[in-house]
Amino acid sequence: MEQVNILVIGAGVVGLSIAQKLSENFEDIVVVETEKSFGRHTSSRNSEVIHSGIYYPQNSLKAELCVNGNKLLYEFAKINKIPHQKCGKYVVATAENEEQKLFKLQQNGVQNSVENLTIISNQEILADIPQLNTTKALMVPSTGIIDTHKLMEKLGKIAEKNGAFIIYEMEVIAIKQSGDKYEIKFSNGEIFLANYVINSAGLFSDKIAEMVGINLQKNNLKLHWCKGEYYKTTKLKGIKKLIYPLPSEQFLGIHLTINLNGEVRFGPNAYFVDDLNYKMNENNKDEFLRAINRYLPISVENLQLDDCGIRAKLQTENESFRDFYIAEETAKGYPNFINLIGIESPGLTSCLSIAEKVKKLIEH
Ligand SMILES: Cc1cc2nc3c(=O)[nH]c(=O)nc-3n(C[C@H](O)[C@H](O)[C@H](O)COP(=O)(O)OP(=O)(O)OC[C@H]3O[C@@H](n4cnc5c(N)ncnc54)[C@H](O)[C@@H]3O)c2cc1C
Repeated sequence: MEQVNILVIGAGVVGLSIAQKLSENFEDIVVVETEKSFGRHTSSRNSEVIHSGIYYPQNSLKAELCVNGNKLLYEFAKINKIPHQKCGKYVVATAENEEQKLFKLQQNGVQNSVENLTIISNQEILADIPQLNTTKALMVPSTGIIDTHKLMEKLGKIAEKNGAFIIYEMEVIAIKQSGDKYEIKFSNGEIFLANYVINSAGLFSDKIAEMVGINLQKNNLKLHWCKGEYYKTTKLKGIKKLIYPLPSEQFLGIHLTINLNGEVRFGPNAYFVDDLNYKMNENNKDEFLRAINRYLPISVENLQLDDCGIRAKLQTENESFRDFYIAEETAKGYPNFINLIGIESPGLTSCLSIAEKVKKLIEH
């Protein structure tokens, strides 16, 4: 039986960030991952946006970790030469009766310590993006984009340089408490004994928590998978900022993002699913068209299928907000077992601040 000090489950952007951070101070860290390489799931299937933190309720973990994570991520990207761009974004009101919501969003952002938020007139926006249908916009300069693949690659390399191991094709199938340690069983028959377990298994993090004995129903920790699809276009060129409609209670709305090559895509939409299927549903094209045309004219033939991802949400269809769940589980009878469940957006932005939080939980 292999003995390890810290076992991190999942080599997505969160698990890799945690391994990188912990490897600065701890020895004998192993990251285990079901897939053949890192980031095959949600961490490679998202908008690649470095969020500012304007949306989340004050004093929530999402607000705190996003605002701190935003700064940490820019710093990390700069030092480690990860391609990124602090391009900024507009949240647009498309009619005067939406403007009040824009001011509220600005206020919420200010309360969350997001800097330099300004409301700008439609003349200023139109000088920048003439095709936009808007009356006013909230300009968010700290929003940006990042190459997530390069980010994960670098996080993994630093962790490995500091002595951590990342082992692929290692699927955790059972976990048993064994004295003050944990026995982790893998689908290939191997068994590891670990002092600490960090569950950063993304879409399967609730199942991992259940394996150790945590009752998901009782603790309200069951995940609900929510699919998000993207369409792309080659018709729009020269857009330099991200464009978002006003958010609904449930999600940010189908927005326009650019990648580091300036290519434009729209999405994600949001609907709950039961299976892990990354096939696009072409029937949703009309929904995209309607949503986009509220702020930008584009015709149906200029939208092409792109890709999709699946969010690991704690909130059900009827709930408006659930926070990240990040906890060391002594209170539930599982000391030195750390669960990260419901790490949906802004999980990418928050990855480095989540890692700092996990380090503090280990040092408690
Ligand atoms: C459509 C969409 C758009 C998004 N846009 C943004 C954005 O613009 N900005 C932002 O900040 N956030 C965004 N997010 C959220 C962000 O992508 C996630 O918060 C982040 O990627 C979560 O990373 P993770 O490491 O927790 O999960 P994952 O990347 O899913 O990694 C978990 C890993 O655990 C592995 N695993 C699972 N079970 C086991 C097991 N039993 N044994 C071993 N390994 C296992 C999986 O194979 C996987 O590789 C978006 C998410 C979606 C779906």
